[in-house]
Amino acid sequence: MPPKRKSGSESDRPSKKRKSSNTEVVWPQYFHDVRLQLCPLTLLFKAIQLFKVFKALNTVLAFVSSRKHLATSFNTIRASVESLLKRPLDLENVAAIKSLCPELVKFAYVPRNEILVQDALQPSKEPSFQIGDYSSASSERKEDHILILEFMEKSSGKKAENPTQSLTAPPALTPAAMKKLVEKRNEKFSKAVDELITATADGEDPAVLLKAAAREHIPINPSDPTTWPSFEIPSPTNRPSIDSVLSDITGEEWYAQHIVERRTIEAKVGQTGTLDSPLSDTIANALQTSRSISSLYTHQTAALNAINAGKHVIVSTSTASGKSVIYQVPVLQFLEANPHSTAMFVYPTKALAQDQRAALEQLLACCPGLEHLQVKTYDGDTPREARAGIRETASDMLHAAILPFEDGWRTFLKNLKIFAVDELHYYSGALGSHVAQITRRFRRVLAALGNTSAIFVSCSATISRPSAHMQRIFGIDSSDVEVVTEDGAPSGIKDMVIWNAPANDDRPISSISEATNLMKFLMKRGVRVILFCKFRKVCELAMKSLRLELTKEGRLDILERVRSYRGGYSQEDRRRIEHDAFTGHLLGIVATNALELGVDIGVLDGVIMLGFPGSIASFRQQAGRAGRRARDSLAILVAECLPVDQYYVNNPQELFEGKMDDLVVDLDNKILLEAHLQCAAHEMPICDADTEFFGPLMKELCQTRLRVDSDDWYHTHPKFLPYPSKHVFIRGIQEERYTVVDITSLSDRSGGGSMYILEEVEISRALFEIYEGGVFIHQGLTYIIKEISHDSKVAKVVRADINWITAPRDFTNVDAIQTYRIKEIKKSPHLAFYGRIDIQVIVFGYYKIRNNTILDTVSLDSEPWEHETTGFWMDLPAPTLELLRSKNFKPAAAIHSAEHGLLNQFILSDVKTECKAIEKENKLEESARKRPARLIFYDAVGSGGGVCTRAFDNVHELLCKAEQAIGACACDFGCTKCIHSARCKEKNEVSSKLGALLVIRGLLGIDVDPDSIPGQDAEEGHDTIVAPLGVGAMTGVKVERDT
Ligand SMILES: [Zn+2]
Ligand SMILES: [Zn+2]
Repeated sequence: MPPKRKSGSESDRPSKKRKSSNTEVVWPQYFHDVRLQLCPLTLLFKAIQLFKVFKALNTVLAFVSSRKHLATSFNTIRASVESLLKRPLDLENVAAIKSLCPELVKFAYVPRNEILVQDALQPSKEPSFQIGDYSSASSERKEDHILILEFMEKSSGKKAENPTQSLTAPPALTPAAMKKLVEKRNEKFSKAVDELITATADGEDPAVLLKAAAREHIPINPSDPTTWPSFEIPSPTNRPSIDSVLSDITGEEWYAQHIVERRTIEAKVGQTGTLDSPLSDTIANALQTSRSISSLYTHQTAALNAINAGKHVIVSTSTASGKSVIYQVPVLQFLEANPHSTAMFVYPTKALAQDQRAALEQLLACCPGLEHLQVKTYDGDTPREARAGIRETASDMLHAAILPFEDGWRTFLKNLKIFAVDELHYYSGALGSHVAQITRRFRRVLAALGNTSAIFVSCSATISRPSAHMQRIFGIDSSDVEVVTEDGAPSGIKDMVIWNAPANDDRPISSISEATNLMKFLMKRGVRVILFCKFRKVCELAMKSLRLELTKEGRLDILERVRSYRGGYSQEDRRRIEHDAFTGHLLGIVATNALELGVDIGVLDGVIMLGFPGSIASFRQQAGRAGRRARDSLAILVAECLPVDQYYVNNPQELFEGKMDDLVVDLDNKILLEAHLQCAAHEMPICDADTEFFGPLMKELCQTRLRVDSDDWYHTHPKFLPYPSKHVFIRGIQEERYTVVDITSLSDRSGGGSMYILEEVEISRALFEIYEGGVFIHQGLTYIIKEISHDSKVAKVVRADINWITAPRDFTNVDAIQTYRIKEIKKSPHLAFYGRIDIQVIVFGYYKIRNNTILDTVSLDSEPWEHETTGFWMDLPAPTLELLRSKNFKPAAAIHSAEHGLLNQFILSDVKTECKAIEKENKLEESARKRPARLIFYDAVGSGGGVCTRAFDNVHELLCKAEQAIGACACDFGCTKCIHSARCKEKNEVSSKLGALLVIRGLLGIDVDPDSIPGQDAEEGHDTIVAPLGVGAMTGVKVERDT
């Protein structure tokens, strides 16, 4: 029979007050505070005497916290408590106390830096840092955690403190006050015990209940996986089917008809084909040994048969349908016939080229007689001499390092049998237009060397009109090209889902948490998943949210298997993440579309797209990343509130069945063509017959821009010598970068810490992401930016687990400064201007934000970033501006949409415009910053392209095309076909479709009947647009007629 609780000791006095009920509560022995004479000796030592433990803790903690303004770690107080108890202090006991008094006890692992951050943010206490002394160690090192044990007083009246600050103890107490505090806490404890015992049902043991509850409170050390609780995550082979996962989702309590569309694509069995002339035993064995390929699919055999017949080939089939075999096998065949044969494979990036090299080497190693052959990547570091073998390279190298040094490559090129360009869909827009000219230069060099038999092979994801795209990129006649689109590869059953969170007034919909919740749900069921985000920042926020949620749930086992992956990470980090993904260690990847490219990250079961990825082609390519062969897979589009996304929510058939837009390549761009002619003439003088390669515009450009000799050969203009290719930036100019360095461990007084390079940030991003006091996120972990050196371009950050993020308060002014050219807009009384543009980016502060709420507004006094470029502009006719205002249109929205409407008609991507931000346009107080009523466009700083002149030359055509596109578009409030741009810096939030149409019609001089225009609902905010002032012109500028 449990003895009655013995009272008597001083600190037990409060027990009298706890008699809330009229009967005294009887405590089981487990809770006691003194030894009990009645107990047998063996039991005595086993007895836990929880109150005794609590009292010892209470005394020690009160003593320690009165003297130290630091968090108390379990280890620092353990010895003192044990000496009072005269026996070991068990984690289980502390956890039991925590579970009895959860409000009072803080018992958890926290990152060491969270304790240090308060100190580390004091600049004066800093050690001095040596720039350049960075450790190359990975940024993914294990976080160091400390087990904290302390009491938190929730003193009445005072607001609960910020979590990061709760670690500092209350001010020092007098001995009397301390005694009182100790007694108060003891009272709290005994009250809690009373409550537990009273609440325990008859026949149950409160001690047993408490011990069970305490298990939940034993802290998990994130740095020590051996302490993690174990959960079962199904292996890839016995995970539940996608169908059952989806029905689990719909059965969840939080599910509210989120799935607005579900399409199931049935599984398909593989179709194998036959080769006209069978593979040699050597090659067949090599395929079998190195890739377990014993038969070929129909698309593979169709392509191989065509190559065998000497035809060029384009294969446009699904991801992972075994396309590389199509150009690798013919190389083996050519090598068997003639060991001097060579081949060149071109990939969009160096990383892909390296990926593929390993695969090909493996294949060669299995071919007796060919195993000595080496596959080399060519990426600038390799010697220029190349006579034999197979080269894998990036398209950039062909332009900058191979063609200009053709003499070193002559033998190689003469013997070239196969020229393969993989991931052909990647080459569109500006890059595609450059690559189209580079392949023409390449073909001309081959022809001059007498090599007319080289076969061109292209592989692409599913695209619209593959044959036309191949023809434009390579300049070869489509009758010589075999098009293979019939996909013979098998595929598992695939579910495609559109997920749209229902509107809810209470809670703003966060598409990030929708997406991360889904991701968690899938990962717990062993579904390997990739989450695609459109922006780097979103990628980090999603990772941060996963980190938080998974930690809260104690699912460190999953967290440990999720990584974010995006541009900016070091090569080393990226390679490791790819490797971890490929080997199947990772369950989840949060990525930007950097991973849309074919980097092989192994088998994925699911894809989540956070927001519509910009085009139907991208949607299908991203969706195609999941699922292989016989496995079922899932692709989910989590729709954002943006109009584009909602358009597809309402018109899902367009997403699934709609036609993909053609990939655009501009072959008539004179600026671009001239740049490549200067390069080509340096490779070999150009003659008139070369129009065969460069088209009808070539001659005029050669005559006006190149140097002609007496034999009518054209040579590079001397101003581009000695290396004309250095004047052409096929991916825009390499921007300067800021290095973000983690100095956290240097703030540790123990010394011996080192710096870690977290990542590099291009200057155009750094402007908005790196400012003192800002929060920088890397792998979902938060850092505070402490110090920036603009001279050395280094930003120093300190790891800090904070629960807010920051957003810059900035504006960019794009101002026309001087007019170089003026041009009529055909059939219109209005003019277009071309000239110097100044860009000014000002970050004047930042917001601290938590859960979409602004916590604080901070001002910064940073220098504006200024740059000069070229561009063109058109002023809104006064009657148009008047009309907009009279009908309650926001002129800023009409102008912004008209700008994107025009840019959508102009494919060269390096043209930019001044985007309008919603927080500026809808601001309640009137801003002093007013912008002219002007459409303005400029060349990306450092693009070296001067592409705006091209747009300016065609301004009438652009306006007409935009007018048609917007006027005819069936959407309600704008979509990417008319006025929205995936590249809008401000997410197209300030937009007006009808307003844009009025602006463009105004500029085209088309009469608009004001009565036909519906008045708009007045919106928040002030008019930020003023009538434009003229821009001074250079002397002698005349208005050009538009004929
Ligand atoms: Zn539209
Ligand atoms: Zn915009």
